[in-house]
Parts: sequence; structure tokens; C-alpha cells
Amino acid sequence: MEKKEKINWQGFNVIAGPCTIDTYDSLYETASEVSRLGIKLLRGGAYKMRTSVHSFRGLGDIAVQYLAAVGKEFGMHTVSEVIEIENIDYMAQHLDILMVGTRNMQNYPLLERLGKVPNPVILKRGFAATYDEWLSAAEHIIENGNPYVILCERGIRTFEPETRFTLDVSAIKVMQIKSGLPVIVDPSHAAGNRGLVPSLALAAVAAGANGLMIESMPQPSKSICDAAQTIDTIVLGQLLNTAFEIRKINKDL
Ligand code: PEP
Ligand code: MN
Repeated sequence: MEKKEKINWQGFNVIAGPCTIDTYDSLYETASEVSRLGIKLLRGGAYKMRTSVHSFRGLGDIAVQYLAAVGKEFGMHTVSEVIEIENIDYMAQHLDILMVGTRNMQNYPLLERLGKVPNPVILKRGFAATYDEWLSAAEHIIENGNPYVILCERGIRTFEPETRFTLDVSAIKVMQIKSGLPVIVDPSHAAGNRGLVPSLALAAVAAGANGLMIESMPQPSKSICDAAQTIDTIVLGQLLNTAFEIRKINKDL
């Protein structure tokens, strides 16, 4: 069992893992690969907001237990999306960081309740939200007592259907300045296509992002959710090597 290192959110952090947790063993295998890359934060969905009522909605409470156990084993901080108020206390007790997904950015009762937990909260941008609406959503958490908010740009809805969403790289600098909060980027949900993920991730790093959240597994084709945008852990390692080179050049960003 490894000890968890403290996270400096104003620095540069990488969060990786599956879209959705399927089995303990596959999560363990993913964590083992990503922790070998030096990644300290493990993501995995337990409760999923799915557009189709017929899609898999995650394993629920047991997936939280898997994530907590695997995180402990590898000394990784754990990140998972909270979709309803009733789950907040349970998740806050077992996991390190709670995340609000794009479809809940304006769920104010959920945000207000997240103001009452000690855990950092990753607040994803609503896919049709302006910067001011996103900032106001963050204030619903902060004004209720939790200053540990990390913003996550994940793509917005535009007129272009070729990508799943359009990654708004401008959001990084604008929101760092407007909010004073760290801004990380999720290129996976913007791209919807694994071939685009490295380029979008590196664009975000060049633009000064405080981190990346990337859907990654050793065998992406086995992913039960968002397989098309999940990159394998070898590609993840290669893209991070380039990301660290870009950060060396871009020290002043
Ligand atoms: C996720 O990161 O698991 C997710 C569902 O992302 P988003 O809310 O940005 O679609
Ligand atoms: Mn996903």
C-alpha cells in the first residue's frame, strides 16, 4: 500500500482511468499501468448520467468501494462523478475528489451541498455554459463553504458535428484569470475519438492548463463506456512525455 502524496492544484496534474468502472480487476490493472507513468490521480465512474435510458448507468456503490480500495493500494487520489445529493456523503467519505459532470453544472442544490464537504470538487463546464455561468456555478460551491474547486473544460456544443464537442482552449486562460481557480482539461469527452485526444491534450498543455483528465485503459476496446475516445496507456505515456517537454518550454504561462 502506497502513501498518497499531497496534490498541488496550482501546478500540473494528470487524472487518468476508465470512463466507467466495470470490475475490480480491470480497475486494478488500469491503476497499475497509469501509476507506473507517475500519475497520482485515478478516475472512474460509479454513477453515470447517460443520454439514453438504455445505456449502462454504472455499478453504483460497489464501484465506489472498488475505486477507494484500488486508490489505497497504489497511493492514488480517487476521482468520481457525483450525480445526486443522496450519494454525496457516501462518496465524500470513501473518495478523495468529487466531480460534477457537464449535465449537472447548473444543478444548484447539488452544488450547494458540495459546499459542505471537505473534498475538492472538479466542476466540469456545462456544454452550453458561458464563462460567467460556469463561474457562478463555482460560486454556489465556494459560497457554501468549500473553496477547493477545480474547473474542467470538456468541450462545448457548437455547429460542428465531426467531433463530439468543440474543445474551447480559450477557456483555460480566461477562466484562470477570471476565477483564480485551477483549470484542467478533459480532451476525451470533447474529442469523442481517441485519434484526436493527444492533439487536444497537448493544445491544452501549451495553453497553460493546470492538468488533464484523460480516459485511458490498457485495452480501450474492452471499455464498457466511451471506448471510442479511450486511449491506451502506452499512448498516454507518450503524450505525457511530450506534455512535460511543452511545459518546460512554456514555464511562463
Ligand atoms: C465523465 O468525465 O465521466 C463525464 C461523463 O464527462 P462529462 O460530464 O464532461 O460528459
Ligand atoms: Mn466518459
